[in-house]
Amino acid sequence: MSEMQRKFLAGIRRGGSAAIRAVALAAALGASACAVSGNKGRAKNVVYMVPDGMGLADVTAARIQRHGPDGMLHFETLEHVGYQRTHSGSSTVTDSAAGASAWACGEKFDNGEVCFHGDGRPFRASILELARKQGKATGLVATSTITNATPASFGAHVPDRNCENEIARQYVQLTGVEVMLGSGVDRFRSTAPDACGTAGDFIAEAQGKGYAVAYDRAGMDAAVAHGGGRLLGLFGNGGMVPEYLRTPAETQPRLPEMTAAALKVVEKNPAGFFLLVEGSQIDWANHANNYPYQLGEMLAFDDAVRVVRNWIAADEDRKARTLLIVVADHDTGGFAVNGPQSTLLTKGQTVQAAWTSGKHTGVDTLVWSQGPGSQALARALDNTEIYAVMCEALGIPKE
Ligand SMILES: [Zn+2]
Repeated sequence: MSEMQRKFLAGIRRGGSAAIRAVALAAALGASACAVSGNKGRAKNVVYMVPDGMGLADVTAARIQRHGPDGMLHFETLEHVGYQRTHSGSSTVTDSAAGASAWACGEKFDNGEVCFHGDGRPFRASILELARKQGKATGLVATSTITNATPASFGAHVPDRNCENEIARQYVQLTGVEVMLGSGVDRFRSTAPDACGTAGDFIAEAQGKGYAVAYDRAGMDAAVAHGGGRLLGLFGNGGMVPEYLRTPAETQPRLPEMTAAALKVVEKNPAGFFLLVEGSQIDWANHANNYPYQLGEMLAFDDAVRVVRNWIAADEDRKARTLLIVVADHDTGGFAVNGPQSTLLTKGQTVQAAWTSGKHTGVDTLVWSQGPGSQALARALDNTEIYAVMCEALGIPKE
């Protein structure tokens, strides 16, 4: 870490939320943030759903498995489809930190950066922070550590994605994200410093701030039933248990269950909410070139989309005023459907799977969307452009 980065982090520690406000102000001065037109302010809620590392062939394989060759996954039924460029500021092939930071903060970052420019340039407040400034509830849900790169980009600013203790600290002390559901007990309660030099017991701090803390599905459900407005669910330390390895006795919640729990908390805010939901391990399955792993994670992610769509469909105001976006940050593995070449697969069958890589690839990814402002996403996009569409839909003024 550079001296400048160390100074910045020291400033954030000393200055608390005032420092974050200064960062947001500097960012607004440094670049145009939210353009405004006719869609201004029509969205009350935003649900941003990320199938991390999902390419289009993953969609084909999951569709055939669940519905046969002609069915549709839930996210495929959204009204608008576009696609986005995925490159980062520093690389044709992005990582998840730069990919999510492009969405969350509306500009290119280098691989590894979490809404933070290592060269000292100012950066913007994230869309989650701006939504919270409007009085909305905010939530992060993932099947990785909740301090991993994708959720972190929406709720923290750090020079290095490995600063997961610092990310936990910022969530609790600065950003004030109301709902956090994923893994990462040891990131929230640490004794050894991370790459940013941060360690501490941020679980105790969260409890002091009124968060209910849950460590398994039963605890999460009890906290939701109790009805509080702040929920920290930490289910283990590393990644959560993948779908294809789960047994009926598993006590960790599944992605669709965490999504439903998060909605039950954030829906209580009369000003609406911003909720991020990530199927984190589609990426990991493709890194591992593991087809059963990928299929399980894909179907669980689509189940989470179904939970959100059912929540929207249950109420006229939700239908009119919820912007739902489903977008992958990048492809992982170059997954391909190589066959069969001369028979038609039916429901429940598996494709002839192949991968070109164990790493991320540089291809574009699809963007599915519905709700206020979503027509602006039905075209060829850069990943940085989704930020302005969300700002505009939420009526966030240009500062
Ligand atoms: Zn990856």
